[in-house]
Amino acid sequence: METRQGIATKEALDLQSVDQDLVQKMVYDALVWSSLHGLVVGDRSVQRSGKVPGVGLVHAPFALLPVSFPESHFREACELAPIFNELVDRVSLDGKFLQESLSRTKKVDPFTSRLLDIHSKMLELNKKEDIRLGLHRSDYMLDEQTKSLLQIEVNTISSSFSGLSCLVSELHRSLLIHYGERLGLDSKKVPGNSAVIQFAEAMAKAWTEYNNARALVLVVVQSEEHNIGGQVIAVVYFRAGYAPTDYPSESEWRARLLMEQSSAVKCPSISYHLAGTKKIQQELAKPNVLERFLDNKEDIAKVRKCFAGLWSLDDSENVSKAIENPELYVMKPQREGGGNNIYGEDVKETLLRLKKDGTDEDAAYILMQRIFPSVSLTFLMRDGICHKDHAISELGIYGAYLRIKEKVIMNEQSGYLMRTKVASSNEGGVAAGFAVLDSLYLT
Ligand code: ADP
Ligand code: MG
Ligand code: MG
Repeated sequence: METRQGIATKEALDLQSVDQDLVQKMVYDALVWSSLHGLVVGDRSVQRSGKVPGVGLVHAPFALLPVSFPESHFREACELAPIFNELVDRVSLDGKFLQESLSRTKKVDPFTSRLLDIHSKMLELNKKEDIRLGLHRSDYMLDEQTKSLLQIEVNTISSSFSGLSCLVSELHRSLLIHYGERLGLDSKKVPGNSAVIQFAEAMAKAWTEYNNARALVLVVVQSEEHNIGGQVIAVVYFRAGYAPTDYPSESEWRARLLMEQSSAVKCPSISYHLAGTKKIQQELAKPNVLERFLDNKEDIAKVRKCFAGLWSLDDSENVSKAIENPELYVMKPQREGGGNNIYGEDVKETLLRLKKDGTDEDAAYILMQRIFPSVSLTFLMRDGICHKDHAISELGIYGAYLRIKEKVIMNEQSGYLMRTKVASSNEGGVAAGFAVLDSLYLT
């Protein structure tokens, strides 16, 4: 198939040509498979869902077939995982760099400011994290025009979908084992995915290194009590704590501070959390900054290659360019979890307003080059219904890192996540209803 640039690529499948009867069979099998193998999420339309185990479950949104992805770019993304793991660790140790890079943001963003306060307190106490556990996910899009793999962001807190992503890879393999011949596809070209096992292994190893057989692993989740009284905690895993709404009162902030002060292994520590902010991503993209944290020249070159254009809003030249061509940019605040970015005409309006106000509010955001991946037809499955739409994909590569003082116990690429969303939506997460979980078919 010819892409828009006219460069021939081995397209895995021309969806237009797939027989409707075959699609219906695959849809049926995929839905049965999802129920049998736990590719399910809570069903919001069922009142008792999420309260009573086993009640109100529905298949997770998924793509019926894996999306084609060039093997070379997949390898490139996998190779970057251990380098980013190391980079996050190094950056986390430079307290001054974190505080200074975020100092202007601190003035205008109360949430980031609170995180920085906890971080400052740890610096004052000279608190050392001897055991450091990172469960990260670095996300990429393949820019169609330049054919380059560009990083969207790196997540250092609550890196989601390590469980469901493995199941989607298995579902796709299973469908291709049954229908691959008729589709002209080979199930072996869906790469294996063991993200959930590798993450669990890293957490278990951190627990082992803590070396207290009676100690527990605490998982901090949304809308749950943080019960940490009376038991020794070896590892705190934050599945929540990345959004302002996770701290409805002072007691959540006190709990976060207490956990940070404790001897438990935090995943992430406050320094790892801050190292994953968009502002730090943008600072690392400045000339000669990566060199401060990485020694290996080849690693530095690999990392730099995946950086898209990233600018601070005090860069008036690029702000002017963004006002002229807002559709080529994305504006991002220091937030996680999707739905926070600014696109298109809103970029122009916001930049003009910030310019006019002349306050420090611009420091809350970074400006990023918008990446345009190639669009392909996809069967999207949601609520048992299959619909065909033009879609784009984002590849996430998980990374697990465990270190005890100078000794690196684990530094690996740990599986992947492919998310596919309708091309017309700017963002739209899996939960928000625009994106589905996917896997990849190497070409
Ligand atoms: P979050 O931490 O909230 O997930 P992201 O930086 O990942 O923030 O942005 C959310 C979504 O917005 C991404 O999943 C992607 O779909 C879209 N997005 C973010 N940055 C870009 C970009 N530079 N070009 C195109 N789309 C982007
Ligand atoms: Mg994120
Ligand atoms: Mg993201």
